[in-house]
Amino acid sequence: MKNIPILMYHNIGQPPEGAKLRGLYVRKGAFARQMWLLKLLGYKGLSMSAALPYLRGEKSGRVVAITFDDGYLDTFELALPILNAVGFNATCYFVSGRSGQYNDWDAATLNVQKKLMTDDQIKEWNAAGMEVGAHSRTHPRLTKSTDEELQIELAGSKTELETLTGASVTQFCYPYGDLDTRVAQAVLKAGYEAATTVQRGRASPGDDLMRLKRILVSGSSILYLFLIKLLTKYEDKRG
Ligand SMILES: [Zn+2]
Repeated sequence: MKNIPILMYHNIGQPPEGAKLRGLYVRKGAFARQMWLLKLLGYKGLSMSAALPYLRGEKSGRVVAITFDDGYLDTFELALPILNAVGFNATCYFVSGRSGQYNDWDAATLNVQKKLMTDDQIKEWNAAGMEVGAHSRTHPRLTKSTDEELQIELAGSKTELETLTGASVTQFCYPYGDLDTRVAQAVLKAGYEAATTVQRGRASPGDDLMRLKRILVSGSSILYLFLIKLLTKYEDKRG
């Protein structure tokens, strides 16, 4: 079975002074080198919906899926031009109830307020050929949510983002990677085709589309380690 790496990014750029979990930041130059390296190696960088036929085993080829969590302004300002330059697509998962605001769900823990894209920037991201995925309305721990809250977070973010962009929203990402059987079933029921977790490893054809593993690309992922994560069992063993 051919593996399909799904890359997971959070912030592109320099970590601000005093920010915790600085590994969540990948410098702009490092991100550009990673994308160009993939291109040189003959990989196509795809959005999650474009990667689905590969994940379902209907197509094969040298592909990676590229994902960004939370919808930060730096994804728009720094990653988008690089993606456009190499001709890759990507999926960004947005917290629909927080556009134009900041990461109020973990700002205190991380000691940093990070700006999120505005509605207009989300529309521009989509108009540039990138995919808009959902990451709930308010970034709660979904396993702690009632059935009613789940409905609002899952179906609500899908509707809000679809209304905003006019495009269908079929991709979901679990906030904090927090899920159980009830949550995964609710995501499927809300009409999503696939959902990504923070469980580490490479996805392969036939995997449960509601529980897709990803490859964490962190600030310390120097280029050769990035390649090892992509091409070997390195990440699978950390799953
Ligand atoms: Zn998140």
